Amino acid sequence: MADIRLEGVAHSYDGGRTWALRPTTWTWRSGRAYALLGPSGCGKTTLLNIISGLLTPTEGRVLFDGRDVTGVPTAGRDIAQVFQFPVLYEEMSVYDNLAFPLRNRRRPKQEIDRRVREVSRLLGLDPVLGRRSRRLDPGRQQIVCLGRGLVRHEVAAVLLDEPLTVVDPALKWTLRSKLKEIHRDTGHTLIYVTHDQTEALTFADEVVVVNEGAIVQAGEPAELFLSPAHEFVGHFIGSPGMNMLPAEIAGGVVRVAGADAGAALPDTAAQAALADGEKLPPGPVRIGVRPEFVELGAAPGVPARVSGVDRMGAYDLVHALVGEHPVVARTEAGTAYEPGAAVCLRFPPERAFLFRDQVRCGSL
Ligand code: ATP
Repeated sequence: MADIRLEGVAHSYDGGRTWALRPTTWTWRSGRAYALLGPSGCGKTTLLNIISGLLTPTEGRVLFDGRDVTGVPTAGRDIAQVFQFPVLYEEMSVYDNLAFPLRNRRRPKQEIDRRVREVSRLLGLDPVLGRRSRRLDPGRQQIVCLGRGLVRHEVAAVLLDEPLTVVDPALKWTLRSKLKEIHRDTGHTLIYVTHDQTEALTFADEVVVVNEGAIVQAGEPAELFLSPAHEFVGHFIGSPGMNMLPAEIAGGVVRVAGADAGAALPDTAAQAALADGEKLPPGPVRIGVRPEFVELGAAPGVPARVSGVDRMGAYDLVHALVGEHPVVARTEAGTAYEPGAAVCLRFPPERAFLFRDQVRCGSL
């Protein structure tokens, strides 16, 4: 296991006209389980392939425990990588596929058998161990690939690129918890690529959020949820994502744009626009507050009108308009609010943040 450090790593597929990965400096700590989370096309696979050596970055260096491996091919890096679509030796049995990485490194027979059976038991592959891989359905094939990636203890890192894409959704939950169990046992450095926030949040010690070729924030799941540093993290994590309400700072007061007259936030909030004790310069900002923390009630607050209610069973989502800007609040099930009702919104200061140019710059 090794600390994997990227120093100023960037990649362009078209000679520098566009950048799939913008200059990135980041260290993956040995033994941690990471999720690399971001939308399709944001550069996750590019980043992974640079770590494994399938791709040489256009710029920057890759270091394994301080050793520069930038020019070292995959075979010299001791990385296990599992791809989005199953790649197996189809004529081999499941057992032989799982044993392959260990046999390749001439591990003792007993160790091979023990590891194959451990992984097979954890991933529920015992009933098909003797079966040829091509006779399995795609979901099972993908689980075999996952097992093959996890079977060796002594790798620098295990890279999993959307490893459960073709697995039945119900089985995914079980497999993720098995994966955690295997991780606890092996202490692998794991990097799990996904565009699915649930997968990322339920699996990882640390979630690294990528957008448009750059890491925008990394942290524990609760930190990303409660304290997003960038509007993108607010939107992308949470369901629904964070509300973003246009506002204006003038004379130290945060005034919600488009709201009825008098919709400056209450006095306490007027002291608001302070980031690290500094007064924020006047100008436009956006107030970000998660639906879970928007409070609905009578004045004081920001006047709004209810535009709809989604009854979700376990909770309600109350949609409101501040001027023309939508805000959604998550409330207990069975709320009495109906479309058309006038309501005031309150944002608890410790849960409402100010963003400028998409980056968090202060709080209410
Ligand atoms: P997905 O979740 O869809 O796999 P991703 O986040 O892994 O996406 P990448 O596959 O790393 O993203 O792609 C990043 C950008 O680089 C995208 O704009 C993609 O179109 C482009 N790209 C990826 N591979 C190549 C390639 N071989 N040649 C040219 N452009 C590429």
